[in-house]
Amino acid sequence: MVIVGAGPTGLTAATLLAQYGVESLVLDRWETIYPQPRAVHLDDEICRILGRLGLFAEFSGISWRCNGLRLVDRDMRVLAEFRRDAAHGRHGYPEASMFHQPELEALLRSGLKRHSVVTLRGGAEVTSLAPEVGGVRVAFTESGRPDSVLARYVLGCDGANSLTRTSIGAVMRDLGCTQRWLVADIRTDAELDAWEGVHQVSDPTRAATYMRIGKNRYRWEFQLTDGETADDYREPAALVPLLKPWTGETPADRLEIVRVAEYTFRAQVADRWRDRRVFLLGDAAHLTPPFIGQGMGAGMRDAMNLAWKLAGVLDGTLPETVLASYETERKPHATTMIRLAKLMGTAMTEGGELGNLLRRVAAPRLHLVPGLRKRVLETATPALHRSALVARPLLRHSLAGRQCPNAPIGGGRRLDDVTAGRFAFISTAEPSPAQRADIEQRGAVLVMALPGSALHRWLRRGFAHAAVVRPDATVHSAGRDLTALCAAIPPYHATP
Ligand SMILES: Cc1cc2nc3c(=O)[nH]c(=O)nc-3n(C[C@H](O)[C@H](O)[C@H](O)COP(=O)(O)OP(=O)(O)OC[C@H]3O[C@@H](n4cnc5c(N)ncnc54)[C@H](O)[C@@H]3O)c2cc1C
Repeated sequence: MVIVGAGPTGLTAATLLAQYGVESLVLDRWETIYPQPRAVHLDDEICRILGRLGLFAEFSGISWRCNGLRLVDRDMRVLAEFRRDAAHGRHGYPEASMFHQPELEALLRSGLKRHSVVTLRGGAEVTSLAPEVGGVRVAFTESGRPDSVLARYVLGCDGANSLTRTSIGAVMRDLGCTQRWLVADIRTDAELDAWEGVHQVSDPTRAATYMRIGKNRYRWEFQLTDGETADDYREPAALVPLLKPWTGETPADRLEIVRVAEYTFRAQVADRWRDRRVFLLGDAAHLTPPFIGQGMGAGMRDAMNLAWKLAGVLDGTLPETVLASYETERKPHATTMIRLAKLMGTAMTEGGELGNLLRRVAAPRLHLVPGLRKRVLETATPALHRSALVARPLLRHSLAGRQCPNAPIGGGRRLDDVTAGRFAFISTAEPSPAQRADIEQRGAVLVMALPGSALHRWLRRGFAHAAVVRPDATVHSAGRDLTALCAAIPPYHATP
């Protein structure tokens, strides 16, 4: 397996594959981590992936917990507040965490070093991909010298300007939300005394975002107006007035400008994510405006979705046809999250003075809008679409496609502690000896959902007696007929 790109997506994919014993070569054009801060927020579903990588404890040490998001007007009046559980939500992890992307990447790299089946080569720029009998020829230059390797599969985790994407003839489809923003990272020992969460300033003349991302680290983002550039704000005399609503009387010399950069935020999705043995993941497949802090997380979700399927195919327990489910499941999910980010961006920036008036009336009532309520009040992301590995009925409500909660299961453990990358059969009713044998023979773990437990309540709310849960914690199928559900478990013997 060759993984092009050692950003968060490539590192996550390589580690997950390595847990199943799958060998990979990760190639990145740079010797070291890209030092500029970009992503700053992730949710509890992504923390769960970090848990799976065995890195959550270390991540806790480099992250800052966050109470949620406030929509404020230009006078800093709170229009709406969406609270997040800073301790732990339904997966046992904080629902919103702030961090510094280069530190997270360093952590992912240190985690990768624990696996001898992965080789990471920096200073290796991939120059072409060409199909060959039995695989894909990956050509690259290392320290100026040409080299190549034959890969069984290639994961293109090579970011927004992906060569992998071009190689397979895929193109980005624009979803229409291109905006230029100023991004400023500041360090200060001064206590700013602001509410501990993300502040989104809804103001068509100067939309802004503020967040604390560490003990003494802060991020501001401001929409640039026509004709402005980041160069206009490199000097403290120009930048500090923009920060005033949060920094108050803090003297400018106590605010260290770490960097000021201009980014063009885009909403784009690649028209296809795969060509035979080559897959696109992360920013190579989709670009999310950062208003809901989901871009990097989407790449880690891609890796989580694909890694166990590839491990199963390579190990011979899953047919290769299941790999089509990667795009079927991930593309609509990523697109929905991008549209949600766009919606947030629009809510903050559009409509002029009339927009401001509407926001004052509508924002406090957002939670009353059916559909939006779930999205803004909960961190759960949408269900995956029907696929070869999501048995979702067309007309009936079902748990299939949703994330199974990483609920406590007794003895101080949570679900993921016992499933650990395998299929799980979660049941409220005791399976018969024949059903037990079926579950075991298919390589799944049986987890009893005892009355009064969180898993029992979750199944009951989903009108189910049992659920088949995939190695990536997505529900494969759920219902009341235990025998039919046992028979639906895909045989899966790849084990971490
Ligand atoms: C201002 C800003 C704020 C953001 N905020 C958030 C946020 O709060 N939350 C969030 O989840 N996301 C956020 N994002 C998005 C997030 O930073 C990206 O989605 C994430 O970095 C994508 O990870 P990736 O691994 O897919 O790609 P990248 O991080 O771009 O990594 C791609 C890697 O591939 C390598 N590469 C490229 N081409 C080649 C080649 N030909 N050969 C070898 N190597 C190659 C590159 O060197 C790079 O290391 C933000 C982005 C910006 C700009």
